[in-house]
Amino acid sequence: MFVYADHAATTKMSDAALKAYTQTASAVYGNASSLHSAGQRAQEILTDCRERIARILDCDARELYFTSGGSESDNQAILSAAYAGAKKGKKKIVSTAIEHHAVLHTLKKLGREGFEIVLLPVGTEGIVKAEDVRAAIDDSTALVSVMLANNEIGTIQPVEEIGEICKEKGVLFHTDAVQAVGHIPVDVKKIHCDYLALSAHKFCGPKGVGVLYARRGAPLTNLIEGGAQERGKRAGTEDVPAIAAMTVALEASVADMGATSKVLKHLQDKLIAGLSEIEHCALNGDRTKRLPGNTSFCFEGIEGESLLLLLDEKGIEASSGSACTSGSLDPSHVLLAIGRVHDVAHGSLRLTLGGENTEAEADYIVKSVKEVVEYLRGMSPVWRDLQEGRRQYIL
Ligand SMILES: *Cc1c(COP(=O)(O)O)cnc(C)c1O
Repeated sequence: MFVYADHAATTKMSDAALKAYTQTASAVYGNASSLHSAGQRAQEILTDCRERIARILDCDARELYFTSGGSESDNQAILSAAYAGAKKGKKKIVSTAIEHHAVLHTLKKLGREGFEIVLLPVGTEGIVKAEDVRAAIDDSTALVSVMLANNEIGTIQPVEEIGEICKEKGVLFHTDAVQAVGHIPVDVKKIHCDYLALSAHKFCGPKGVGVLYARRGAPLTNLIEGGAQERGKRAGTEDVPAIAAMTVALEASVADMGATSKVLKHLQDKLIAGLSEIEHCALNGDRTKRLPGNTSFCFEGIEGESLLLLLDEKGIEASSGSACTSGSLDPSHVLLAIGRVHDVAHGSLRLTLGGENTEAEADYIVKSVKEVVEYLRGMSPVWRDLQEGRRQYIL
């Protein structure tokens, strides 16, 4: 059996998105900035896509900027707010310990430039407290950046409450909604955010394209200088076929959201119940306030890398943390933030399912993980020490 269980890393393009992509690429090849008819046809598609995405996010089409994806949108939102704040002497940024590296590394860079970066803790359940955000905001705060849903453990953050607090305090608020858009309802008016980042390849659209929502009036500085595309805020010829495909993928994900989440929740229940039968393991993140597609576990006494490789041999493609951290030996910052010690964090497994996964696949995952964990523990000196009492179990 072959099971793709790494949808948080990326998704396969849907047939409808692929069709929109190829049709647009062959029929609408003009440069959207050109004045001739081929260019105008491309411009019309951009206008149409922007309006359709605006309807879904509940904003004005002029508040949307097409970018190269989630990382670029996060960078532009954070740097824009930070530099605008610095001009007014505000150099404090409040965020969380579990943000994606697109946010964390941007904040780190600002830290080197003299900004004060506060990363709030998230507790064992992996959710930041809105009241902690309130307490961290002071007169020098330029920006609050809190993700909508975490990419490793799937926990959903209280962004609506945080947005209210930021609005009340007059502080800019950015949310990285890359894991949420197309999967759970996202409405920029309800969140009261000034910026929001989304990425097409996380909801069955193409890679390398995304959107930055910037509320009308929110500061926006360019990361890329050049032509006057995107109201002068993001230079570079627009990838019209990718934008058309992203729009189709987003509309389909939103239309199917209710039915898909029902299926995913059922599969998630199966995975959590099945994997919990393994001794000395634990679910990562809150049991209920999580994305329906995300199941993340830590197993004591094994190496996540070996687990992944053996699962891959069985046809199961999963992840240990985020795709960005895989390949490095550092344990995930998210797992450390929810209190997993290094050894335990190394034994992690992230299973992220999508609408096309089936019940038979979930059963196969449970059976295979049980087999592989048992096999690896059978060879592990750490597991023997635990079993023979020379080490204390943590989980
Ligand atoms: C994938 C992801 C990103 C990066 O998006 P790209 O389009 O791959 O640059 C940022 N934030 C989160 C939460 C993500 O899951």
